[in-house]
Amino acid sequence: MSSTPLFERELAELAQAHLLRHRREVSPLLPPADLSPDQEHLRGTTYLINGQSRLSFGSNDYLGLSQHPALILAAQQAAARYGVGATASPSVCGHSPSHEALELELATMVGLPRAVSFVAGYMANVGVIPALVGRGDAIFSDALNHACLIDGARLSRADVQVMPHGDLAALDAALQASTARRKLVLTDAVFSMDGNIVNVPALLTLCERHDAWLMVDDAHGFGVLGEHGEGTLAHWGITGRDGVQPEWQGRLHRLIYMATLGKAAGVAGAFVAGESTLVEWLVQKARTYMFATAAPAMLTEAVRASLRVIQEEGGRRQHLARLRDQLQDRLRTGLKLRPTWRLMPSETAIQPLIIGSNEDALAVMAHLDRQGLWVPAIRPPTVPPGTARLRISLSAAHTCAQVDALCQALSEAV
Ligand SMILES: *Cc1c(COP(=O)(O)O)cnc(C)c1O
Repeated sequence: MSSTPLFERELAELAQAHLLRHRREVSPLLPPADLSPDQEHLRGTTYLINGQSRLSFGSNDYLGLSQHPALILAAQQAAARYGVGATASPSVCGHSPSHEALELELATMVGLPRAVSFVAGYMANVGVIPALVGRGDAIFSDALNHACLIDGARLSRADVQVMPHGDLAALDAALQASTARRKLVLTDAVFSMDGNIVNVPALLTLCERHDAWLMVDDAHGFGVLGEHGEGTLAHWGITGRDGVQPEWQGRLHRLIYMATLGKAAGVAGAFVAGESTLVEWLVQKARTYMFATAAPAMLTEAVRASLRVIQEEGGRRQHLARLRDQLQDRLRTGLKLRPTWRLMPSETAIQPLIIGSNEDALAVMAHLDRQGLWVPAIRPPTVPPGTARLRISLSAAHTCAQVDALCQALSEAV
């Protein structure tokens, strides 16, 4: 039987509920390679979106590296050196010297013994979780976790308990009550729609007490947090570039650290880091690592260039922090916004402005769009009902004047 009538009806229902997602065609306004010095403010900030020029506050390019000349050059040189495809999975013949070097550099940067790279963050999470736990084991998953942690948990067939967001007491009680052989706690390190940073030391201590593993997904912290962009572990003083900090020596064998390379790092891919034996286990058992074609060296070399920029150009993180403070000052006290709107408390590049109803959020987004500004409205089910929001995402590529233009346009939205 044809599936067409069924899907047509369901698509019509989605459209009726305003839940259809419309993809836009997006490209840099001008090719990054052609920008003159007086056009630098366009790099990584200004896009053609469905043919219209827009200043974007929608990307996860938090450091503005996706169009950085050093990364583009690294990709070009790698294509010339390696070709454009990795040709096979890592265990067959897809693991190049570039992949090997990248994994060493990633482990060193986050201060953990070993790392393994994946072609995407989604692939990492849906591969790693089923490699760690299975039937009869228990997963404790924060209610606001990213979709791929949820999918990885489902794929594992372990029993999943969804924990109230950030509730350490509830987690403590659930771990205490569990009789499972293996327990795994899953959490975003920085929540993608809220911007808040998870208390990793408190979670690690809880997991130590209950002999549970802790997997943290640092998709939005890696590159942005920590003095040199090492991510959330360095932010909390757990590890640094010189390795595990004294207080945490010998205490990280329950930790699985995952981060993505397509957000602040500006390229694509992901990695998982931890104890050497854990990482070796993943190389042997994570099916999305074993059975997927490795990333092209174009990408791994671009990531290696990105890691150098992340660590050497600390000014990017300082500028991002200044933009964040500027936005918070202007929206909290400097300008008159509608009284029901609320800027969430967030130290990171993600600055959500809660609007409330879906219709209002869409109206504000449309108002900004008419002013030449692209800020995505995020609605349920991605966020809880009644908390539709603008997810303002700042980038070190933005100028103070660009952030000011956004604040001004928000104050004029009625
Ligand atoms: C984006 C994201 C992922 C997926 O990473 P990709 O590399 O885009 O597949 C995983 N976890 C979180 C929290 C994310 O925000």
